[in-house]
Amino acid sequence: NGTTPEAAALVRRRERHLAAVQEHYFADPPEIERGWRHHLFDTDARPYLDMVNNVAAVGHAHPRIAEAVGRQLNLLNTNSRFNYASIAEFSERLAALLPDPLDTVFLVNSGTEAVDLALRLSWAWSGRRDVVAVREAYHGWSDAADAVSTSVADNPQALETRPPWVHTLDAPNAYRGRHRGADAHRYATDAVASIERLQADGRAPATFIAEAFYGNAGGMPLPDGYLRAVYPAIRAAGGLCIADEVQVGYGRLGEYFWGFEQQGVLPDIVTVAKAMGNGHPLGAVITTRAIADRYRSQGYFFSSAGGSPVSSVVGTTVLDILADEHLQQNARVVGAHLKSRLEDLAEKHELIGAVHGLGLYLGVELVRDRATREPADLETAMICERMRELGVIVQPTSDRQCVLKIKPPMTLTIESADYFVHTLDAVLTHGW
Ligand code: PMP
Repeated sequence: NGTTPEAAALVRRRERHLAAVQEHYFADPPEIERGWRHHLFDTDARPYLDMVNNVAAVGHAHPRIAEAVGRQLNLLNTNSRFNYASIAEFSERLAALLPDPLDTVFLVNSGTEAVDLALRLSWAWSGRRDVVAVREAYHGWSDAADAVSTSVADNPQALETRPPWVHTLDAPNAYRGRHRGADAHRYATDAVASIERLQADGRAPATFIAEAFYGNAGGMPLPDGYLRAVYPAIRAAGGLCIADEVQVGYGRLGEYFWGFEQQGVLPDIVTVAKAMGNGHPLGAVITTRAIADRYRSQGYFFSSAGGSPVSSVVGTTVLDILADEHLQQNARVVGAHLKSRLEDLAEKHELIGAVHGLGLYLGVELVRDRATREPADLETAMICERMRELGVIVQPTSDRQCVLKIKPPMTLTIESADYFVHTLDAVLTHGW
């Protein structure tokens, strides 16, 4: 099946001293030695088409990043208390990506840190603690980020173990759940009623946090008008709105640089990570000067490596590459092609219940029965294993683990998109 005894021995070696992480990798993973654009290569130089690495957004092993990091490491790497140009430049570039008044940047090292800080900013702003989050979401592993992470795929006890200050809303999923299809606008009505109820109970929320495009549910847009209803309700209660753009932001949606644009809203706080460092640990919170200053008056922010010269150079280089290689446009064009080819495949294979998403954030939801929408979770896992044997890396997502998540490096070409569709077609036709 393509893996070697050496690769199996490496798994055992890794398991001896490395604490168990979320074990979502394959039963028999190959030993990956290098990457190039949207491809990975194992120690036998076998290529794999990489359909999952959204962190390597501008492609694996990009020579411009390697060159920029090498150069900066040879010059200087220190903390943000020092005065150096790269941090000022990167902050300007980030602020320029967002409309006014979102012009103030905190630089951290991960999505978890960004979410944690975003929650703290909102607590400092309102002097209150209660937070509204949607179900089936993941926002990180620190105490605060974990508290608002409600996905049972990541933590089977997620819903029973939320602290009392976390209030969850139905996952606004138009494909399954309480309100489907044309009824999906009711999620917003329910959400507003819940927020008003909290306020009436003396628990006015300090914050609402959600992905502005539902990455963790399988790459689904929120129902039209959802955030346009929820954000004003939160603001009427004196709270702030956080858009978690860690997965879906940064141009991947093709048509939009940020997920919140798709909803026609403006958040108060935006969290970013993953793509912005292309794998280098880099995260950011972008907010208004007033919100940042309120936090400053109550707390202290410093991060030893956040916004270091090397991190700032990585961040600026990633933005340069995104622009110079027209990768957002590529995500739009190749993503639209891929989505339409997957929709064609759905005509042929009953197992495909729906194709979700936009640009190069897509989800292929697999169901045993199109009427009941029974999740085909075991099939999804087996299909991913078989795809890996055939040289394509794709993995399950969502609380039901029945969605093929498709979020490749944004360098994906039409040819590689076709290769993915061809391989999936073969697996669905000939079995897994
Ligand atoms: N928010 C979202 C939406 C995420 O998907 C993730 C990571 N999967 C995080 C936050 C946490 O980011 P990190 O792993 O960089 O801490």
